[in-house]
Amino acid sequence: MFNEIYKKIKEYDNIVIVRHIGVDPDALCSQIALRDSILLTFPNKNVIAIGNGSGKFSSFGKLDKIQTFSNALLIVCDTPDMKRLDSARISDFSYSIKIDHHPFIEKFCDLEYIDDTKTSASEIILSMIFSTPLLCNLEIASTLYAGIVSDSNRFLFNNTSTETFSLLAKLLKEYPISLEDVYKKLYMRPLAEVRLEGYIASNMIVTEHGLGYIVLKNDLLVSLGVDSASPGNMVNHFNYIKEVIVWATITEDVKNGVFRISIRSRGPIINELAEKYYGGGHKMASGARVKTLEEALHLMEELDELLNQYTEGDIDGN
Ligand code: AMP
Repeated sequence: MFNEIYKKIKEYDNIVIVRHIGVDPDALCSQIALRDSILLTFPNKNVIAIGNGSGKFSSFGKLDKIQTFSNALLIVCDTPDMKRLDSARISDFSYSIKIDHHPFIEKFCDLEYIDDTKTSASEIILSMIFSTPLLCNLEIASTLYAGIVSDSNRFLFNNTSTETFSLLAKLLKEYPISLEDVYKKLYMRPLAEVRLEGYIASNMIVTEHGLGYIVLKNDLLVSLGVDSASPGNMVNHFNYIKEVIVWATITEDVKNGVFRISIRSRGPIINELAEKYYGGGHKMASGARVKTLEEALHLMEELDELLNQYTEGDIDGN
C-alpha cells in the first residue's frame, strides 16, 4: 500500500498533513517528518503540517499556518477516529489518506494504512520512506527516531519488534543522529515537573487489586507551577511498581472545563473502558476526558473491578 500512498502524494500539488488533538511527540514527529520528506522529494509542491502545537514539543519542528487549497490531498497521521482530528475537515479535501497504528475505530479516509502492531506512526512513516522514492535527511531521521523512541516508551512496549530495530539500525547507519540531542528534546523537564512526579509518587492511592490513581486539582497544579498537560506527560514513569498494575492520573483542566485522565496498564486491556468515558487509545495506554470528578472516580471503580477480575487477588499479576 506504500506505493499507492506514494502515487497519491506524487499526483497532488497541494498536501495538508494533520494528526490528533492533544498533541504528543509521535503524532507531531510523524506529521512533521512526512511533510519534510515530501518537500525534500518534491520541492515545488505546497505541503503543510497543521494543528495546535505545544510549547513543550516545539523543538521537534515548526507547524504551518492553516491555508485553504482547492484540490488538495489530506494525510492524517496517528488518528483512529474523525472526532479527534485536529484542524481539518475531511470534506474540504479531494482525497484523504490515513496512516495510523491505533486499534481500528472507524474508516473516514479514502485510503487507510493501519497497522496496530507497530510502535508508532513514526515507524510506519520511516518504513514508507525506506520502501518508496521519498527522501530522507538527518533532520527527518532524527525526528522519526524521536517519534519511535517516545511512543514505544524507549522500546519498553511489546510492540517493539525486530523490524523496529532493523529500521532504526538502517537509519542510524545512514544518518549520524545525535541520540543525546534527541533524548534532551524528549526528556528535559523543569524541576517543577520532577516535584510533581514526587507528589504523585507520595500521594497515589493504591487499591488492593493493583489500581494506582491520583486526583490533581487545579490549585495544586498552580502551587507546583505546572500545567494540566504535565501529569499526562509523565504517566509512563509510573510503570514497574510492583503493587500497581493499572495506573491513572486525573487532572483538572479548568481552561477546557474537563478532567483529563491518562491511563496505563501492564495487565488488562483498558482502551474499551476508556471509550465509555469519551476516550480511547491503545490497549495498554489510553486517555479519557470527563466533565466531572464523579465520572472520573466512577471510571476508577470500573478499572478496579477490571483488575479484580483480571488478577484474581494476585497483585503481582503473575
Ligand atoms: P495520553 O494518556 O493522553 O498520553 O493518551 C494515551 C493514548 O490514548 C494516546 O494514543 C491518545 O491518542 C489516546 N487518547 C488520549 N485521550 C483520548 C481521548 N479523549 N479519546 C481517545 N483517545 C485518547
